[in-house]
Amino acid sequence: MDDASANDRFIFLGTATSEGVPRVSCLTQPPAPRCETCLDADATAQSPNRRRNTSILIQHRYRPGEVQQSGRPYENVVVDVGKSFYTSALDIFPRVGLRYIDAVVLTHEHADATNGLDDLRDWTMNIGMAMGDGPSSIPVWGDARTLERVRTAFPYLVEPKYATGSGLVPKLTFRQLQPWQWLCPTSATGGVLNGSAPSGRATDGSPPGPCGLWLRPIPVEHGNDQPCLAFRFGNVVYMSDVSRVPPAAMKAIRGCEILVIDALKPGNRRHVSHLCEEEALELAIELRPRRVLFTGMTHQWHHQRDNARLCEWSEKHHCLHPDLPAMQVELAFDGLQVPFSL
Ligand SMILES: [Zn+2]
Ligand SMILES: [Zn+2]
Repeated sequence: MDDASANDRFIFLGTATSEGVPRVSCLTQPPAPRCETCLDADATAQSPNRRRNTSILIQHRYRPGEVQQSGRPYENVVVDVGKSFYTSALDIFPRVGLRYIDAVVLTHEHADATNGLDDLRDWTMNIGMAMGDGPSSIPVWGDARTLERVRTAFPYLVEPKYATGSGLVPKLTFRQLQPWQWLCPTSATGGVLNGSAPSGRATDGSPPGPCGLWLRPIPVEHGNDQPCLAFRFGNVVYMSDVSRVPPAAMKAIRGCEILVIDALKPGNRRHVSHLCEEEALELAIELRPRRVLFTGMTHQWHHQRDNARLCEWSEKHHCLHPDLPAMQVELAFDGLQVPFSL
């Protein structure tokens, strides 16, 4: 934590693409594996090169006067639960003292953002319902398209009457968010798929507080005909899956101090559904946050080597533009904790 006064923090639960790092294909490469990143990720349990599907957990500590939605002095909101959510939580939750999940927010419908929903059973059955020390049903927020995909992929999660066997499935309450509208994910009561707007929202401008953590969903493009949501909360913008940021989104993002941004591959490569390093840097230069954290990274990024290179880039960039505030660009890694303020 680089800011002792911060009340709030977010923690990276994953920083990789869908395959994760290490890749099995690299570790089985004949005649012998050569990929430096995957070899390091495989050999070292806490290597920053070991990456899972992109996700963060936002932890907000209530201020005096705020309505404590969770019944604890803080609330935990997870953004995206992908295919590797279980292994992320297994590794990171005990290590950084996390137990509860008060709400989940989804950026889009892809498998690496939603396929871990089933794993939430441990939180609703063995913490919430059984122990009574957490929510017995976790609200899951997404836009209409994302919730429709979830309904198709996991009918038994949306309507428990489809559950077979013991019928024991995670107890989730699906709620539809509206792009651009500030959202307090732990506050609303009721609301189901395609339901009417619950209370606890504002339409525009700044967060209407006092309630706890407010997020603003900002629509961006994530390849052909694929929308995705970035989220603004406090002085942070989290933009994990993006290929283009439309002008209206740029306007909503401007002024953030910490920018988490998709950077699939290093260098000047291009990709149809993600930004790569050069494009991410161009965007950062335009927005000028004080801290930029890359996420959504393939094994082509080697943490130690490329982080040192970006550190040097940041220093050089500052020397070339001494009149502008310094901007630190770095690679995020699974388990990284970042203090922020609302
Ligand atoms: Zn590899
Ligand atoms: Zn995606």
